[in-house]
Amino acid sequence: MYKKFDFLVIGTGMAGLIYALKVAKYGKVCLLSKDSIDNTATSYAQGGIAAVMYSPDNYEKHIADTINAGVELNDEEIVRITITESTERVNELIEWGTHFDKEDSGKFSLAKEGGHSEHRILHHKDTTGYEIQRALSKKIREHHNIEILENYFAIDLITQHHLGELVIRTRSDIACFGVYALNKNTNQVETILARTTMLATGGLGNIYQTTTNPEFATGDGIAMAYRAKVHLEKLEFVQFHPTSLYYPGEKPSFLITEAMRGAGAILKTQGGDTFMKKYDSREELAPRDIVARAIDNEMKLSGDDYVYLDARHLELNELISHFPTIYAKCLSLGTDISKNMIPVVPAAHYSCGGIEADKNACTSISNLYASGEVASTGLHGANRLASNSLLESAVFSHRAALHAIDNFRNAEYVAKVPDWDSEGTVLNEELILVTQSKKEVQSIMSNYVGIVRSDLRLKRGLDRLKIIYKETEDLYQKSLVTEGICELRNLINVAYLVIRFAQKRKQSIGLHYNIDYP
Ligand SMILES: Cc1cc2nc3c(=O)[nH]c(=O)nc-3n(C[C@H](O)[C@H](O)[C@H](O)COP(=O)(O)OP(=O)(O)OC[C@H]3O[C@@H](n4cnc5c(N)ncnc54)[C@H](O)[C@@H]3O)c2cc1C
Repeated sequence: MYKKFDFLVIGTGMAGLIYALKVAKYGKVCLLSKDSIDNTATSYAQGGIAAVMYSPDNYEKHIADTINAGVELNDEEIVRITITESTERVNELIEWGTHFDKEDSGKFSLAKEGGHSEHRILHHKDTTGYEIQRALSKKIREHHNIEILENYFAIDLITQHHLGELVIRTRSDIACFGVYALNKNTNQVETILARTTMLATGGLGNIYQTTTNPEFATGDGIAMAYRAKVHLEKLEFVQFHPTSLYYPGEKPSFLITEAMRGAGAILKTQGGDTFMKKYDSREELAPRDIVARAIDNEMKLSGDDYVYLDARHLELNELISHFPTIYAKCLSLGTDISKNMIPVVPAAHYSCGGIEADKNACTSISNLYASGEVASTGLHGANRLASNSLLESAVFSHRAALHAIDNFRNAEYVAKVPDWDSEGTVLNEELILVTQSKKEVQSIMSNYVGIVRSDLRLKRGLDRLKIIYKETEDLYQKSLVTEGICELRNLINVAYLVIRFAQKRKQSIGLHYNIDYP
């Protein structure tokens, strides 16, 4: 049995929801989330969304900042498209019911973050992503043409590889016909067919031990795409957020937004010394890679597990009104940030690379789009400028929708898709192995493929990973399919790809820092 739609959307963050809302006027949409619709990285975004709103800011300045942060590895055309469409996309979010903070004058209150030369970050206190998700979800739930499937885990894209009918000569012969998904409510694998598929599955932070990403962010979209032979790129560029709250054992790590440094908070060692001046003239507002490496270096020099972010000198009312969530979170752990410094460490935060996607979010295979964090459009280059990712989702999901609306009728459904092979004998109790292997992958990635890399560390990481890969593939072949084993497989696939991309880049640039190529 299968379900059949015009548009399949895998992922219910900002990228998936915007696309779904736009295409739903033209055909039946299936929206898939591996958890509840609102459990997304989008909901966690604190700082805000970057857009050019008022002078003295202008598009050229935002373009220059983006390319500067990306160390010129960006695709200039894509940067230009994204920034010049920023105002229109933000206005659309507002029309859809998103509230951004305003000043008494009625103008939007714009924050400034690291790497930005102007104030241009629209925000809703420190819960901007939650506000965007709230507004979009409300519209989605009201739409009669969208079927929402929560607790559905997408396992693999359906391509000719599953049909066994065609001889595939080149990647352009490959097309996507939908997805096999595990209905977690019934434990059955269902076949969902669609004329077009949008992958909007978000990030991969959980390949590392410490990450700000929600626990679902196991790189599933990238792993599925890899197995379907879709082009991937720039996976070596994983951004570590310099300041997540040091609170061992908590997952995901709680983020202390860059906007706090924008408001004047200062980094200090545990001995109370400031240090950013030694690393960059922009000090606390240097791009994230520089700040994260500086903290990493200070921690290695001192042997400390964390450094401090000092916001004690900021005005109390400003702290509470601009950063209410951070204030409350720290207070709940016994830290009054107006009186005590905040212990912080870098955490894996954002994947700049991913599925290669063009200016309409088309991937290298037919009928498959990618948008949001899973995609690599060329906007970020070697490093993402803060608050450009929500913007990227808005711009490219809009463009993807326009493209899909024009083209979906040309795509045919396939007949005769085989059902998922649900043979398997391994009992759930055996899957304790899955938990342990997941920890091992995260430890390998954190120890050998983190903020500072070397050829030897990358090789060691790969050698260790190969052992777990082999064990897991054996287990997978024998297992009844579960979310746990699929996620582990995906984590291993993605960790492998990050290492291989890192090994191929024989230079240190942006987020990829290899001591063998200083
Ligand atoms: C703590 C934090 C703070 C951030 N702050 C900012 C900020 O201030 N500004 C900014 O621009 N960016 C910020 N980011 C980055 C930004 O939030 C994300 O890059 C962006 O929200 C990604 O949106 P998305 O739609 O691509 O994915 P997400 O919002 O992560 O949504 C992914 C969706 O895919 C689904 N999914 C994944 N795998 C599967 C599967 N196998 N089967 C079915 N469904 C699946 C999930 O269930 C989810 O619905 C922040 C990120 C974090 C973690």
